Parts: sequence; structure tokens; C-alpha cells
Amino acid sequence: MTVIGLFALKTTGQNTTALKVKISQKAQSLETKVIAWRRDFHQNPELGNREFKTAEKVAAHLKSLGIEVQTGVGKTGVVGLLKGGKPGPVVALRADMDGLPVKERVDLPFASKAVGEYNGQPVSVMHACGHDTHVAILMGTAEVLASMKSELKGTVKFIFQPAEEGAPEGEEGGAALMIKEGVLESPKVDVIFGLHINAQTEIGKIKYRPGGTMASSDWFKIKIKGKQSHGAYPWASVDPIVTASQVIMGLQTIVSRNVPVTESAAVVTVGQITGGVRSNIIPEEVNMNGTIRTLDPVVQDMIHARIGQIATNIAQSAGATAEVKITKMCPITFNDATLTDKMIPTLEGIAGKENVSITPAVTGAEDFAFYQQKVPGLFFFLGGAPKGKSESQTAPHHTPDFYIDESGFVLGMKSMASLVIDYMEAGNAK
Ligand SMILES: [Zn+2]
Ligand SMILES: [Zn+2]
Repeated sequence: MTVIGLFALKTTGQNTTALKVKISQKAQSLETKVIAWRRDFHQNPELGNREFKTAEKVAAHLKSLGIEVQTGVGKTGVVGLLKGGKPGPVVALRADMDGLPVKERVDLPFASKAVGEYNGQPVSVMHACGHDTHVAILMGTAEVLASMKSELKGTVKFIFQPAEEGAPEGEEGGAALMIKEGVLESPKVDVIFGLHINAQTEIGKIKYRPGGTMASSDWFKIKIKGKQSHGAYPWASVDPIVTASQVIMGLQTIVSRNVPVTESAAVVTVGQITGGVRSNIIPEEVNMNGTIRTLDPVVQDMIHARIGQIATNIAQSAGATAEVKITKMCPITFNDATLTDKMIPTLEGIAGKENVSITPAVTGAEDFAFYQQKVPGLFFFLGGAPKGKSESQTAPHHTPDFYIDESGFVLGMKSMASLVIDYMEAGNAK
């Protein structure tokens, strides 16, 4: 290493340390404000593609910080651009904003009593996945980073995204629509970070996983067509109910016999089966709907192919036909290996090495995956369970008793802001 190199490294180090102290102080000073924002969002949740008031509040806050704001990206999405004083990469931070059709049962002064409409039905609405905390934490992070604008070696793009949980029927939405409308362009995003609060991980802890972190979610439909007959004369039929049962049992062998289970988990679930109208009629057809979850693209392709082969060949052996339709919904949330290696020390530095650990993969899906298909990204989990509570003592996400301890928000802000600073400082300047 040359002397100049050493000198450069040293100044970078000092600069980073000073900025880290600033981040820490600023995040701490914003705690009350962030909790107040979160309670407001919690009390006034909005469903996917309907985050009108949430988006308004986000945009107003970003503008008040002098951040360039674009609204209406991917329906109700808000994008903020903070240009640092020095040249460097474009780092995106993402928060999702939508609530869920769940009726809150938690006894809190700011519990949600909101109602909305979901697919034409009136429903209660609740932030039952914690996206209210994501919005508040990212608003706080924006304020932290805006306070050190002149020292930033690059640009920060704040992405407040609608409809992570899926758009209403017949509508586009979520990360895919924001990308389609150019959120990763002008300026082109180099890298993206995102977090998810976790109601079953203790506050103060951070969990992550390199590679496949959350599963891809694909839907499949199988239509078995046979021949109708009287239920008393089955030999005159090609029974689609018996055939469908064989297909369902055949599908069980995909995970048990085809998936390399020690390397990569997968799930094939038939969640719905419809066929027949009464006991003494063998119907003409049976329809099945199911979901496929995978953590590896190779396994994903293999499962899609096997579902087709199994359904078609079993149906054929019975003299029936099978029509198989597989729809790719959400890709694998895949943490870029190099980026993960590079950035985990940042999270360890903020939370303490003993509080950062690798988590088992999750078979739920997360549409952050769409950004990671385009640019390297890191998605991690932030503890939101009260101290000392075990997983069995906490309510899971998407349920009426879902509860988040607010004392983990400062760690959330510090993590997001530090990832930006360390990425910009660690020789990623353009
Ligand atoms: Zn969710
Ligand atoms: Zn979520």
C-alpha cells in the first residue's frame, strides 16, 4: 500500500466515525417524533394503492427537509432525492406503506378503528405487518441524512412504496409498478437497502440471511377434465375427483423426492379444490389452486416443470386431461452475497456483534425482491418484540393481536443511515 493510499484510508475512517456519532445523536433526538408519526400511521392505516393520506404526510415531511420530491409514482408512491455535497453512488432506501384487511384487537390508545374497501367488500383495516413503522423509521432516516447533506458522498433515493401486500384485484401495484415507472432510473440506483420490522424478534436484535432470504411466491391452477356420469355407475365416467386426488398426492413427491432439502427449502400447497355439486353425480371437472414457495431460482424452475409433468401424466393415465397454469407473482428476496458480506459489519457495529445473527429462510414473500432483480440489495429484519418475550408469547404478522415495541425504532434509523454512509465511504464513489 502506498503512503497516499494509507492517508486516504485514514481520513475516510475519521470522517466515517464523525458521521456515525452524528447519526447516533440525531437518531436518538428524533425518537419521540418518529414514535408520534408511527402512532398516527397506525391509527390511520390505508390499504394497498389507497395510501393517499400516508403519502401526503410523507411528501410534506420530505419537502420540509429540502428533499426533492416526486409523488404518484406507482399510484401513491413517493420518491425523495437527497443530493449529497460530494459526488458518489446512488443509494436507495425503501419503506412500504400499506395496511391489511385485519381487525385490530390490541388494546392501545392509538389502535386502528379504520375501515376500508377490499375487492368490493367493506373491511376493517390495520397495520398488521408493521409497515407503519417502516414509513416512520424512513422519515426519521431522511431527517438524519438531510442533516449531513453536505458531507454525503453521493445521492440517497428514498422510496415510499404502496401495495407491498399485493394490489387489489385487477390493479397493478407495489415494487413492480414503481420499477416500471422508473423508480430505479434517473438517477440510476446503484444499490438498495430495506428492512422489515419483526414482531417475533426481540428489540435490539437484527437478523439477516445471505442469498435466498424470503421465498418466491407463484400461483398455480390445475383443471382436471374427465367425463361426467351417475355416481352409481362410475365405470361410465372418467372421474376427475379421483384423478385430482392422485394429482395432489403426486405433487407431494416434489418436495419429498425432487427438492434438495438440505440446500434449499420449498413448499407446494394445494389450498383450494372445487368439483361436483351433489353426492350421486361424478362431475366433469375439478379445479385446484395452489401456491409454490422457493428460495432458489433453479429449484423454482424445476418445481414448475414437475407440477406440469405430474398433473399431465397422472391425468393422462386416467383418461382425463390436465390444464396447468402457473403464474409468477413475486421473485425470491435474494440478498446479494458480496453486498451482504460488505455491509453486515456496519449492522454489527451499530447493534453489537452479538445482536446480529443469521436467520432461517422465510417461506413468506416480500416484493422488495423486484428491486433486487435489478440492482444489488440487502433486506434485513429489525427486532420489534418486547424484551424478554419469546416467539410463542408474541402474535405473528397479519393477525389481530400483532404488536410492535416502539423502542427499536432508533436502531432502525441508525442502521439505515449507517448503511448509506458506509456504502458511500467504502470506496464506492464513482
Ligand atoms: Zn405482510
Ligand atoms: Zn410486510
